[in-house]
Amino acid sequence: MDRCMECGEEPVYKYLGKVYCSKHFTKYFEDKTLETISKYKLLRRGEHVVIAVSGGKDSLSLLYILNKYRERLGIRVTALLIDEGIKGYRDITIEDFKEVNKRINAEYRLISYEDVFGLSLDDILKLSREKGLPTYACSYCGVFRRYLLNLGARVIGGDVLATAHNLDDIIQTYLLNIFTNSIERILHLHPRTESASHIKFIHRVKPFYEVLEMETTLYAIINGLYPRFIECPYAPEAFRNDIRSFINQLEEENPGIKYKILNSLLATLERYGSKEPPRINSCRICGEPTSQEICRTCRYLENLGLLNNLKIWINEVGQL
Ligand code: SF4
Ligand code: ZN
Repeated sequence: MDRCMECGEEPVYKYLGKVYCSKHFTKYFEDKTLETISKYKLLRRGEHVVIAVSGGKDSLSLLYILNKYRERLGIRVTALLIDEGIKGYRDITIEDFKEVNKRINAEYRLISYEDVFGLSLDDILKLSREKGLPTYACSYCGVFRRYLLNLGARVIGGDVLATAHNLDDIIQTYLLNIFTNSIERILHLHPRTESASHIKFIHRVKPFYEVLEMETTLYAIINGLYPRFIECPYAPEAFRNDIRSFINQLEEENPGIKYKILNSLLATLERYGSKEPPRINSCRICGEPTSQEICRTCRYLENLGLLNNLKIWINEVGQL
């Protein structure tokens, strides 16, 4: 039986010729993440890094590792949790985050849909149904969440927003966008989003760009960061799940294919990705960055009759 290639201890990880015990796997994983940060110039000394934390294993691992190395990287770290207000799901993941954070002891900030928009996602969906509007949870949730991550990172005083997307997430999105002919979206899959030409836009980085999902899972388990597994009750994502299974099956038959798919994405970005920052307008209502005249958040809130709540909240937190 194979033993850890560094120390001969019992292995927990074996992939593409590498065999590690838990101690050396941890070192391998952390080195790889730090190398990704340096290779793609994701973080700079003196930056205040806001981490989008959902309470799941990936974002807890990212918070843990950036908090652990914050002095070496010369950064300040704050976790940002968005509470959409999904009963039986987000309340539990927030509880799990608080439990784990007793040990990590990271600064964090929680912003809820209810505080900002006046209603939880559950109640927004009820209202939407009553008004005869579409009731697809993920449309509201995705738009509002992205909006609050950017706004929230600014409220906290962050310079950069780090998300825990891993290699599997990224190549799934890559193939998904190929299959749905959403070529424009592929060009947003950089490890570091280009700074948009808008003063209110916080650029995003993905320090787990080159680590596999099974690696973040193992890292989370070894470091006691693996929370209860709970799925969002609204999660549809059937097509993404099909793509995930398809890639995993390919990987089983062709070990290392996931890296090849990532390399294909990187070559595409190199060749077609714009080096110019995209042009972004200010929303006519809330002033936040948008590619339209009025941002999608304001449009949704206007239809729901909730726009005033956002204006009040923005007034309360002051000029941003
Ligand atoms: Fe929001 Fe949809 Fe994700 Fe649930 S599955 S958290 S509703 S985007
Ligand atoms: Zn707006």
